[in-house]
Amino acid sequence: MGSATFIIAAAVLLAAVLLVRGSASVRASWYLRMRCRARRAGRRVALTFDDGPDPQRTPAVLDLLARQGVRATFFVVGARAEAHPELVRRMATEGHVVGNHSYTHSWRFPLRSLGRTMEELCRTGEVLHRITGRQPRLFRPPFGVTNPTIARAVRRLGLDPVGWSIRSLDTMGQSPERVAARILRRLHPGAVILLHDRCAGSERLVGLLVEGLRSRGLEPVTLPELFDIEAYEKTR
Ligand SMILES: [Zn+2]
Repeated sequence: MGSATFIIAAAVLLAAVLLVRGSASVRASWYLRMRCRARRAGRRVALTFDDGPDPQRTPAVLDLLARQGVRATFFVVGARAEAHPELVRRMATEGHVVGNHSYTHSWRFPLRSLGRTMEELCRTGEVLHRITGRQPRLFRPPFGVTNPTIARAVRRLGLDPVGWSIRSLDTMGQSPERVAARILRRLHPGAVILLHDRCAGSERLVGLLVEGLRSRGLEPVTLPELFDIEAYEKTR
């Protein structure tokens, strides 16, 4: 019993360390070249939101973005999109860009076979196509973790992988003021800022950020605008 518990605890700890290391080293792009910052973006930066849509929090974030006249990029989880299609439709109709963030966002995602990985990515693409009428090209790996299998799946499906240059750490329970100050200290032109629309205080954080960006002469845009790339497959 004791040793079984120890082995499970050790395995969980190892998985946690791998996830943290993977997301911390997203810019290293070991297996997959990801877009993490734009070189010739002028005074533009991109706000990106992962892990939604969330019926409790996403509407307030969308309201705030609309009030501020800001367009962002949402990397949604396929299963959540399927459960809340109206929120994804709202993102698209309000001019935001929707990208693929896997179907399950399971911690097992980086451990899946090539077939299962492709299945998750395709399924999410189908869900988003059904809701928005367009097939997303942008993909952000769950936890920012990549490996040779994920790299192969992304290449085969012709997805455009995107990381980030500033991690907000907005999921750690700190106040929006603290999180905003941390991001604003790290700001640079062409930044890709990682946020989540599922956190308490997301709306307040986004308000502070947009104000902070604009007071520094920076303008938030979508990822396709920042990198001058296509957000969706061309319709045939
Ligand atoms: Zn995520």
